[in-house]
Amino acid sequence: MLTTEAIARPRPDTAAELAAWELAATVVDPEVPVLTIEDLGVLRRVAIEGSTVLVEITPTYSGCPAVDAMRDDIVTVLHDAGYEDVVVRSVLAPPWTTDWMSEAGAKKLREYGIAAPAPRGTGGTVSLGLGIRCPHCGSLHTRELSRFGSTSCKALYVCQRCQEPFDYFKEH
Ligand SMILES: [Zn+2]
Repeated sequence: MLTTEAIARPRPDTAAELAAWELAATVVDPEVPVLTIEDLGVLRRVAIEGSTVLVEITPTYSGCPAVDAMRDDIVTVLHDAGYEDVVVRSVLAPPWTTDWMSEAGAKKLREYGIAAPAPRGTGGTVSLGLGIRCPHCGSLHTRELSRFGSTSCKALYVCQRCQEPFDYFKEH
């Protein structure tokens, strides 16, 4: 059985494909530049077919405007490394889930001042009245100001202890 980590980051088996994966994995999310597409679990597959490098990505949500920038960056980083023929394909099924975000990614997100998504199905933390943890002071006394923050995949919260507003990367 595959572990969650193996599902989240399906690194290829061959050395040639792994080398191309490692390059593609350096591309960051333009909306949250501390997170790479590998941290996010957006990078789904890298395959070398003949002289073509095929890269598959799953956007964090449908219609995510960051996808075009990620696609361009993947092509650029691979071109710069000498791969001439690069094809980037968006794969929508299975849909991306915040569960694919790496632990390291969640930590970087908090350090960047964005509350990391709670594991799916725990919507939990909210319904139990525990709130979303403030990335600045760690308080759970926070409240939602707007369902949509700086981008549609984030909600805007404010901490009632330190009074700082912050984005919450919504779980889905
Ligand atoms: Zn706070």
